[in-house]
Amino acid sequence: MTAVAGQEEQLWSRCAGCASLLYRKRLRRNLDVCPECGEHSRLGAPERLRQLVDPGSLRLLPDRLPEADPLNFVDVLPYPHRLSAARAATGLPEAVLCGTATIGGHPAALAVMDFRFLGGSLGAAVGELITRTAERALDDRVPLVLVTASGGARMQEGALSLMQMATVSQAIAALREAGLLTVSVLTDPTYGGVAASFATNTDLVIAESGARMGFAGPRVIRQVTGRALPEGFQTADFLLRHGQVDMVVQRRSLRGRLAALLAAARVGRPARTPVPRQEPARDHDRLTAGEPPLATDGQRPPADDGPQPAVRDAWDTVRTARHPGRPTTLDYLDSVFDGFVELHGDRLGGDCPAIVGGIARLAGRHVMVIGHQKGHTTADLVARNFGMASPAGHRKALRLMRLAARLGLPVVTLVDTPGADPGISAEEQGQAAAIAENILTLTVLPTPVVTVITGEGGSGGALALGVADRVLMLQHAVYSVISPEGCAAILWPDRSAAPQAARALRLTAPDLCRFGVVDEIVPEPAAAAHDDPAETARRLRAALLANLLPLLDVPPAMLVRLRRQRFRRFGATRAGAQVGAR
Ligand SMILES: [Zn+2]
Repeated sequence: MTAVAGQEEQLWSRCAGCASLLYRKRLRRNLDVCPECGEHSRLGAPERLRQLVDPGSLRLLPDRLPEADPLNFVDVLPYPHRLSAARAATGLPEAVLCGTATIGGHPAALAVMDFRFLGGSLGAAVGELITRTAERALDDRVPLVLVTASGGARMQEGALSLMQMATVSQAIAALREAGLLTVSVLTDPTYGGVAASFATNTDLVIAESGARMGFAGPRVIRQVTGRALPEGFQTADFLLRHGQVDMVVQRRSLRGRLAALLAAARVGRPARTPVPRQEPARDHDRLTAGEPPLATDGQRPPADDGPQPAVRDAWDTVRTARHPGRPTTLDYLDSVFDGFVELHGDRLGGDCPAIVGGIARLAGRHVMVIGHQKGHTTADLVARNFGMASPAGHRKALRLMRLAARLGLPVVTLVDTPGADPGISAEEQGQAAAIAENILTLTVLPTPVVTVITGEGGSGGALALGVADRVLMLQHAVYSVISPEGCAAILWPDRSAAPQAARALRLTAPDLCRFGVVDEIVPEPAAAAHDDPAETARRLRAALLANLLPLLDVPPAMLVRLRRQRFRRFGATRAGAQVGAR
């Protein structure tokens, strides 16, 4: 609805659906749904909460996080300016409002996103606030209700915003283990990193009438595929038809439907297995304290490595990471591992060539290796969809991760993807939910997981294989919440600003090591991996062994606890401005 200009501004609105002129008070009484055509206009978080919860029952969580700009991010405006403008425009401290309340008399913890605040983007503060709400639900033994409205991860916080997908997902996993119901309510629009994590890995997913949800946005899909999108693409009815949501609910029925679902949920009973609240990363520090210097200070190259080349520009690193000669996962399976037996298929109807996986040996030990596969020639790249995995690829990876845990095999993942497949059929087959389930499963997988970013670590597609006990990164690889070209197109807005965007995003290995996103850098031979693949393989093998072997002695329950602490700290440390101060 748009306000009608002039004196009448406060009194009348024009419906975005049918262009009817509507009396504002009447519209508000009708929950901001057009009485003429049924168009559901977007709601801010305060109004949404007012509509959903029992009057007088809402208690907002008191948490206020200090403003942080971990990357010192500047596009055409410094990030703090954009934050201040969003606060002034919405009157909200961040893009989410959290609290406890009752709905139809049933208690719940709620986190409600607000699209007006920087597009409802998921940054470290938003991730931390939603995580605390989930932890509050666990403490109070009540269900968690998430109302999503988001364009995706917050670019201005780089890979730290990407990590929030794992942080919130593991809080949802804890509720799953405790037998507490989690519900997400998709409102318009829900995209990107939010769609590919807590919007879809809850027990129940409800789409509000008129909501659209997807991993990739329509503009990106049109650009990449060059095709017109089918009628109603990514709408609530489309999602229902493709099995991605439990139901589509009109706004006026939402509170009643939630109440009916919450009535069936357990409340106040003891958990089957108690899940302790997590303190800051004390255990994690204890585990890493006894490791060799390389592991605790990944930025320091080994002494025998000779003089390091001058620091490269981030954009040069992006180009090196994308070099067609760079070793691929199948190359490493041949050079680093022995006896690879490839396993195929998601058991649901597909086998994705962009992800390869199977059982192999590393220095005589069996491991499950899963990685993105690109190629060295155009024909290879096309056959492998440029390493962009489909939902079938993510589900194959999930199957192999679970199989590894059952067999007691450690998992090694090799990440090299521009991002998950942004195609039409990928959306139809539930790309967002497929990524979200992988992220959640990895947070609780009871076997060691070591990830190596070998080339491009592209956004949610990378994180779908990247929630690990140890995250290593080849020296000239990159890992980012969005491609520099994509970021430039949105924020500058001109794709030719990609080199500036690459610098602003802090996507290189030394930057990510400083932020704690990456634990260790694997040095590449001069000038880069593709110049000496054999030496690269030798170094990668040594780094994998050094990181994997200590994990083999850690009991599975402790491994999972330490992994959770690793990902929990990206939000928690933000408040103390300690990110990267390890
Ligand atoms: Zn209308």
